[in-house]
Amino acid sequence: MTTSDPSSSPAPACELAPLTAREVAALNGQFEQRSPGDILAWAWERFGRRAAIGTSFQGSGLVMMHLAKMAGLNFPVFTLDTGLLFPETLDLHKRLEDFFGWKIESIVPDLTVEQQAEVIGPDLWTRDPDLCCTTRKVLPLQSKLRELDCWITGLRRHQTRTRVDIGLIELYTLDAQGGSDIVKLNPMANWPREAIWNHIREHKIPYNPLHDLGYKSIGCLTCTRKTARGEDERAGRWIGFKKVECGIHTFMPRKIDFQI
Ligand code: SF4
Repeated sequence: MTTSDPSSSPAPACELAPLTAREVAALNGQFEQRSPGDILAWAWERFGRRAAIGTSFQGSGLVMMHLAKMAGLNFPVFTLDTGLLFPETLDLHKRLEDFFGWKIESIVPDLTVEQQAEVIGPDLWTRDPDLCCTTRKVLPLQSKLRELDCWITGLRRHQTRTRVDIGLIELYTLDAQGGSDIVKLNPMANWPREAIWNHIREHKIPYNPLHDLGYKSIGCLTCTRKTARGEDERAGRWIGFKKVECGIHTFMPRKIDFQI
């Protein structure tokens, strides 16, 4: 794939008023008939580089990056590096930078894993995974989102029961006191798992080799196991806890509920 420096690509000038909840609801209806590529093109036109792709390198994020790259939409890309990722995931980060020719920014927590152990206690994920995820994922993401107007994710409705009602575009309260919202775009929401993997194979996109070993959804190595045949895609996360989301998709209030 041809490489490019995203910072040198012209981004559209965007001085439009923030979207209202009503406008977002209308766009969501329109986007149901549009492809992910169309939705990404809309985001580029509307937000330019104030929109960014956030990815943990699951399959749908890889396809979305590929669709953006092929269309010349040079969004910034970032990932949350908790300090507890699999070596395979860290290696994939580098391979994807080479493949796409994009820098992928690592967003890291304030505390290293060692500092967290000193301040809050060791192995927090075994005692209070909600607090651990808040410290290592949610707070760093919250800080990153303050730089943006639009957060683009690879969420899909088929992934798990907590995601069946996601919109293709949503509006969230980012800072209630400051009165700021953020648009969240889920262009891959309607794609089934099979279509994702067909696209990855067809275009030879680098992916995490742990998928070939039975891991369907890959997070921190401390909180991820293989999934059995027929299990929910995210069944291998946080075993032993009643926890199905790390919190990055649930910490902000959504400003309108959609009927899917
Ligand atoms: S997934 Fe586990 S180790 Fe990673 S931040 Fe959450 S609780 Fe901590």
